[in-house]
Amino acid sequence: MAGSIPGSSPGTAMTGKEDEEATAPMTPFETVEIDEMVAACAGGPGGGGPAGHPKVYLNLAPTGRVECPYCSRLFVNRAAARADDARRRGSPGERSRA
Ligand SMILES: [Zn+2]
Repeated sequence: MAGSIPGSSPGTAMTGKEDEEATAPMTPFETVEIDEMVAACAGGPGGGGPAGHPKVYLNLAPTGRVECPYCSRLFVNRAAARADDARRRGSPGERSRA
């Protein structure tokens, strides 16, 4: 018997639809976590660059976070961020994670 050949399927054409971008939340500005309560910002990640600006010191007190008035990056103190995160989850009986 001439066996029919399976596996000759048209194939699963995975034409990656780029819908993910539509659903992804917009994060235009960076969040920078630091250990100090004072942030030093001079613009881009390397300090300066195209998005650079005069170096400024930003006081994170009392909320533990401050946004740079020049480049709108948000500086967050790690400890404060952790506390805030814990507060947000603050539900008794956490969801079990896989
Ligand atoms: Zn800045």
